[in-house]
Amino acid sequence: ESTIAKIAAGEIIENPASIVKELVENSIDASSNNIVIEIKNGGKTYIRITDDGIGMNEDEVEYAFLRHSTSKISTAEDLLNIHSLGFRGEALASISMTTKMETLTRSKDSNKGIRIFLKEGEILKKETIGCPLGTTMIAKDLFYNIPVRKKFLKSDLAESNHISDVIYKIALGNPNVSFKYIKDNKIVLKTPGKNNIKSNIYSILGKDFIENLLEINYSDNKLSVKGYISKNDFYRGNRGHQYIFVNGRWIKNIQLTKTIERCYKSLIPINRFPIFILFIEINPSLIDVNIHPTKQEIRFSNQNEINNIIEGLVDKILKETMS
Ligand code: ADP
Ligand code: MG
Repeated sequence: ESTIAKIAAGEIIENPASIVKELVENSIDASSNNIVIEIKNGGKTYIRITDDGIGMNEDEVEYAFLRHSTSKISTAEDLLNIHSLGFRGEALASISMTTKMETLTRSKDSNKGIRIFLKEGEILKKETIGCPLGTTMIAKDLFYNIPVRKKFLKSDLAESNHISDVIYKIALGNPNVSFKYIKDNKIVLKTPGKNNIKSNIYSILGKDFIENLLEINYSDNKLSVKGYISKNDFYRGNRGHQYIFVNGRWIKNIQLTKTIERCYKSLIPINRFPIFILFIEINPSLIDVNIHPTKQEIRFSNQNEINNIIEGLVDKILKETMS
């Protein structure tokens, strides 16, 4: 029973970056304005996420660590209307099976916070304690209890690069939230929040990008597309700076990616990759987020229509700026 639970948890939690992703997404779902992420040793020994979101009361915090205890789904129809990032109710249960966890949280219903310590998914200790509104999650010593998984963790550098990648994507996709990222006691990223897309991109990708991007802004009754694409002469050697966010979620959709790349290739037939940061807002019933266990690959039910709209937008703006 316990071994099976550990194996299942280890499948959801692959590495420190998957913990960071799940915890930060929970903080976003909790309507936080400020999220602080702190890691040590590539997240292998220490991960702490602090938010100023809605927090949890005593019942909620106990319930949160039970498998499939999500607060977000009660009926099958809910699955089709997913606006929040998490919806399986497995993340906290899995993280608490694979790390030593501590949670500190306070909701606005209470003037005292709650602190719990967990090990192997069980609450070891619970106490009331003064704390600010919001939630802090600490996850230490990943896979301390699953040596075969621990052995396969990569170097501190490789694991922390993976975490940075996750954080940059989430931060780009959530310009309304201010993120602070502290790596081995050094602040490596601070984003402004306040929904300023351009200054958010600047704080994450730097000046070079800002100076070479063109703005896109489109909406009809089915979808809206906002964001930036690179000028026709600003490329990279790989797809590392192509970002598509659908309803705030970073996603992969290779058909759309190739459609956009084709617009650039028709202008300059070279084998390099344009940059784009696109925010698509679409009715959730037109997307299927449930096709991939890590929720990153999505399918649009009107894929061709979306490709055509975005192709038209990109073509137009590139041609305008070249003439
Ligand atoms: P899911 O996100 O799929 O619902 P999780 O295991 O990630 O499942 O979280 C379980 C529940 O714990 C969430 O549905 C939410 O109610 C609560 N929760 C988790 N993290 C936070 C947080 N940072 N602030 C407030 N509530 C949280
Ligand atoms: Mg979650």
